[in-house]
Amino acid sequence: MKGVFMKKLLIIEDNKTYCNNLKKEIESKLYYLVDTVNSSKELENLDIESYNLIIADIFLDDDNDESYLKRLSTKNTPILLMTASADRNIKDDILKLKNVIDFILKTDSNRFDQIIDKIKILTYIEKIDILVVDDSKTSQFINLKTIKDLYPRANSLVANDGEEALKKIENNKNIRLIITDYEMPKMDGIVLTKNIRRKYSFDEKIVIAISGNTERDTSSRFLKVGANDFLHKPFNKEELKCRIDNNIKIAMLLEEIKDMAYRDALTKLYNRRYFYEIATKTFATKNREKFDLSVIMLDIDHFKRLNDTYGHQTGDLALQNFASVLMKNLRKNDILARYGGEEFIVLTIGSNAKKAFLVAETKIRKAIEDMYFKNEEGITIHFTVSAGVSDKGNTLDEMIKNADEMLYKAKETRNKVYADFLDE
Ligand code: GH3
Ligand code: MG
Ligand code: MG
Ligand code: MG
Repeated sequence: MKGVFMKKLLIIEDNKTYCNNLKKEIESKLYYLVDTVNSSKELENLDIESYNLIIADIFLDDDNDESYLKRLSTKNTPILLMTASADRNIKDDILKLKNVIDFILKTDSNRFDQIIDKIKILTYIEKIDILVVDDSKTSQFINLKTIKDLYPRANSLVANDGEEALKKIENNKNIRLIITDYEMPKMDGIVLTKNIRRKYSFDEKIVIAISGNTERDTSSRFLKVGANDFLHKPFNKEELKCRIDNNIKIAMLLEEIKDMAYRDALTKLYNRRYFYEIATKTFATKNREKFDLSVIMLDIDHFKRLNDTYGHQTGDLALQNFASVLMKNLRKNDILARYGGEEFIVLTIGSNAKKAFLVAETKIRKAIEDMYFKNEEGITIHFTVSAGVSDKGNTLDEMIKNADEMLYKAKETRNKVYADFLDE
């Protein structure tokens, strides 16, 4: 989805084919808008700091002494260097330039996996908080500094022992990477790791343990209680980076797999299977704790006609636009899913049918009636939706069945919301 929230990336590369292939690959796989330049001269007119990331070839045809990189590094944008061959050694002083965060070897132009992974890792690191846990102020300082050197955009926090760490993790969902020492007062690193694993999976919280302890089984004890990785002190900076990068890569893959299992690929909404999973749990809780619950069943009107008139692609765009409106207009704790084809379902928590009816009427039916989008040929597309609402039923299935019957009634006129209390 392109829009104002897209991040911007700049590729500086004199090989135009390589440059364009890389741009295509990044834009198709990541949420970045990519600009390209093929010479250092073209940089003069660019607002460098408007970019979130730069991927730069070390040697350009019109700049063979890296002086352009020195100028570039004075700006405030992280730079990922690319080098064509391992035989032309990258000078150390280039890697030490401010804002140069890493380098990658150029591979043949059909395989950009490594570059894509690297960008993903950097994006991930920028979004999360890193927690450094250590009782020694010196070690804290060294670890924080190392992280800052390796990932200039990372945000790090500290805790002085396991207990404090656990509290911080509980209170800050954004802590996703924990770098912990072993021996600490109150709670040591192993007990801390054990506690983290009671609640969080491998991809939710990455735990990397670092210890100067010389007992040979320290590493295996950490790994057994669920640390993602272990490093002996003193460690080498590059090694820590590789371990962090690898573990983030694994965590992202796990997340992707989970996401594929419970989200619909087209609209990114939950799929029917996942809806049943959480809706069933919610329904069980309702029977214990007594709160209002309603089902809204939604079905786009004359969707077949829209497909037949403008093509399947336009139909897909309509589904995506429909999903965006739902996501924007519904409350965060409402459970929303694509039920199948052009049918969607909402379980509204804390609303009886009357409240849910109002939501369906104003936030959905009316909002869709007022909404339009342009398809790929530039044609303005409008469509409408009908909805059925119910809060009756002893089971989730009964409530869904009732809402479906109301939807059936709404379909008599279309662009309409119907609810069971209207019959009373
Ligand atoms: P009604 O107003 O009675 O709901 O009529 P309708 O045409 O919307 O309903 P019908 O069930 O006859 O047709 C639904 C259509 O939705 C048929 C199917 O091809 C289309 N459809 C289902 N999934 C997708 C999808 O992922 N993309 C697109 N473009 N079309 C889809
Ligand atoms: Mg210690
Ligand atoms: Mg249908
Ligand atoms: Mg329909």
